[in-house]
Amino acid sequence: MSLFAKFQPLAQDREALLSQGVDPFGAPIEEIYSPTEARINGKKTILAGTNNYLGLTFDKKCLDAAHAAIDEQGTGTTGSRMANGSFSGHRALEKEIATFYTCEKAIVFTTGYQANLAVISGLANNEDVILIDADSHASIYDGCQLSGADIVRFRHNNPDDLHKRLERLGERAANALIIIEGIYSMLGDRARIREIIEVKKSFGAFLLVDEAHSLGVLGEKGRGLVEEAGVIGEADFIVGTFSKSLASTGGYCVSNHPQLDFIRYASRPYVFTASSPPSVIASTREALRRIEKGGDLRATLWKHTNRLYKHLQDSGYELGPEPCPVIAALLHTREQALRLWRGLYEHGIYVNLIFPPATPGGKSLVRISVSAAHTAEQIEKICHAFTTLAETASASD
Ligand code: PMP
Repeated sequence: MSLFAKFQPLAQDREALLSQGVDPFGAPIEEIYSPTEARINGKKTILAGTNNYLGLTFDKKCLDAAHAAIDEQGTGTTGSRMANGSFSGHRALEKEIATFYTCEKAIVFTTGYQANLAVISGLANNEDVILIDADSHASIYDGCQLSGADIVRFRHNNPDDLHKRLERLGERAANALIIIEGIYSMLGDRARIREIIEVKKSFGAFLLVDEAHSLGVLGEKGRGLVEEAGVIGEADFIVGTFSKSLASTGGYCVSNHPQLDFIRYASRPYVFTASSPPSVIASTREALRRIEKGGDLRATLWKHTNRLYKHLQDSGYELGPEPCPVIAALLHTREQALRLWRGLYEHGIYVNLIFPPATPGGKSLVRISVSAAHTAEQIEKICHAFTTLAETASASD
């Protein structure tokens, strides 16, 4: 088989989409007006698929901090922290993240994806076993693969199934690593974390929680599901990203296990990549302060979320199981999802279109992410567009 033959099915899929005049996976963002508006293909469009939950991408303090860091420290670090050293900002941010979580240790990574790759492949090797939720993000799957560990998938958000699978592992269960997400990125549902912690404790296993979508969104100080559920001290490792509520790029892991520090030496995705530029670190530090005092932003975010979720539900859409700033409309076929996505786009609303196999249960998804920066008027426009498109979206092909 030729090297390029494997792209044939992709090429056919892409051609079918482009022949309809849209590329849902490559929208040209020509100008950004605000956290919630941009010009796409010459048209002013509401951004409703950004993960910019708190809308901090244009926060004045974050912008000022990033500008100052560029002026003082330049545009990039041009290498990894192992080889080139750690700038004071990287170290300061690690301290601040550890304090934020009241944890002993924190490591900052260049992306959230790398945080999962680095932590999972650093912690586990081919003698270990990792249990992951079936709906885990690709970075978790990839981290597991890189580790070489045995991978066991348990049924999505099902502590009983997790229990059963741990039991089958016998003695190995006491050293197993369990991985869950605070809010799942596809359907926007919270992990049943308290029950999962009970299971973990009964076997003496370890738990890693990826709070990518819940940081800034859940908990009084925005620390995610671990805070909302009152279990910060009971998760062995908490991973997250800077690319959503923190409005930049990067990732982190916090833990009370002092051994977390060894990831810096033992993990290729930490050692062999360049560290974040000073401007990214500086804006992230400001955003973290804003998140901690972000009760006002979270109140607006949840008001918009509840309004939109209820409206979509009343309009007959099949949604994820609970209101969350990730709101997924589930469609039976790719064609229905594409029709809905295109209809929203024509109404001046940009959301995410996601096809299997990236989705759970073989459904296609049109996914909204709500932002505290959306105005009430924008939320009403989104509601109106979904109502108008409800019949077209559910029509059989
Ligand atoms: N974990 C989860 C659950 C995610 O949804 C994502 C990104 N969507 C990541 C990790 C990776 O984060 P990043 O995009 O910042 O690399």
